[in-house]
Amino acid sequence: MANKWIDEAEHALLHTYNRYPIVLERGEGVYLYDTDGKQYLDFAAGIAVCGLGYGHRAYTEALKAQVDKLLHTSNLYYSIPAAEAAGKLAKAAQMDRVFFTNSGTEAIEGALKAARKYAFTEQSGRFEFIAMEHSFHGRTMGAVAVTGNEAYRTPFEPLIGGVRFATYNDLESVRAQMNEKTCAVILETLQGEGGIHPIDPAFLAGVRRLCDENGVLLILDEIQCGMGRTGAMFAWQDYGVKPDIMAMAKAIGGGVPVGAFAMTEKVAAKSLAPGDHGTTYGGNPLACAAVSAVLDIFEEEHLLEHVREVGAYLEEKLDELAARRDSVKERRGKCLMQGLELAVPVGEVIARAQEEGLLVISAGGNVLRIVPPLVITKEHVDEMIGKLDKAL
Ligand SMILES: *Cc1c(COP(=O)(O)O)cnc(C)c1O
Repeated sequence: MANKWIDEAEHALLHTYNRYPIVLERGEGVYLYDTDGKQYLDFAAGIAVCGLGYGHRAYTEALKAQVDKLLHTSNLYYSIPAAEAAGKLAKAAQMDRVFFTNSGTEAIEGALKAARKYAFTEQSGRFEFIAMEHSFHGRTMGAVAVTGNEAYRTPFEPLIGGVRFATYNDLESVRAQMNEKTCAVILETLQGEGGIHPIDPAFLAGVRRLCDENGVLLILDEIQCGMGRTGAMFAWQDYGVKPDIMAMAKAIGGGVPVGAFAMTEKVAAKSLAPGDHGTTYGGNPLACAAVSAVLDIFEEEHLLEHVREVGAYLEEKLDELAARRDSVKERRGKCLMQGLELAVPVGEVIARAQEEGLLVISAGGNVLRIVPPLVITKEHVDEMIGKLDKAL
């Protein structure tokens, strides 16, 4: 399909993505439209980012109002949006201290630095991280160092040292890697990029216990599975296991680039202090106005209850589809973060879904990933199932 925008983009953008041949131009509700005016039902949400869909009135009005007032101040000064967003996010995340970043990978970098600084202050001699195989934590050198995927790591070695890998959902493998040098364990509460692998609640509780017994911090990466996607504000809140440090991004800004890492007071008191960490853009007034608006809308529209209800319906419909189609081996996931392990090439299914006017993405080896806007209705689920059934 000839499109001048594709030619222009291919001419100048660094070739780091094999993009789909679609130029998205605008969005409305949970639908996106390309430059030919073709409509797509969006079950990808810009990779689990656009939780409120597109053109949500209260959200866009809050952003427009902030654009007219003030976009940027730097972190040398206070701002009203940062003050408000930090308080609301700390409350929602049940954490005491928040640091705003521009992305998920920066939230991970900050979380790793926070853990190392805590160990440094304690003079514990601890510096090692235990990370999980098949994990994904982002693309900067520190984040890649704790990402359990050789293809993402090897070309960039040497990465930061002191990282050991354990097997997700295997407590003994974590115990085997832990020693007197271990500073923190880092894991996703529900593995996303690695292929949608839910956590075993007993494993998470076991890791928490192991950390407590050994003076080790627990860092949870809630960048993809957080912000309501699994039916809790943050996925760990369903399991009664609280992290010491957590990383957030993707849906917290509803589409404005913003991330955050947060920690308990116990960690903060011995961790990053003035001069240890910073960012020019991070937590600027526009980004924080977005976070604030998103958190307000969660409360006003009772979004968590909505996610649990429509999430249960999505699971039921995907299970029916999986039972009826040999091309689907297994469904995995929680609420509005779902994966279908396929017996046919996932790329071909995604392309056929696009022809049908449905956007879905992949994860891990051969997994179809379903991470729609959180505001989808049961009717949208039915429409998606119809299109996906045809694509399969
Ligand atoms: C997307 C993602 C990241 C990286 O976030 P970016 O904003 O792309 O830097 C880190 N961890 C998890 C679990 C993610 O899904």
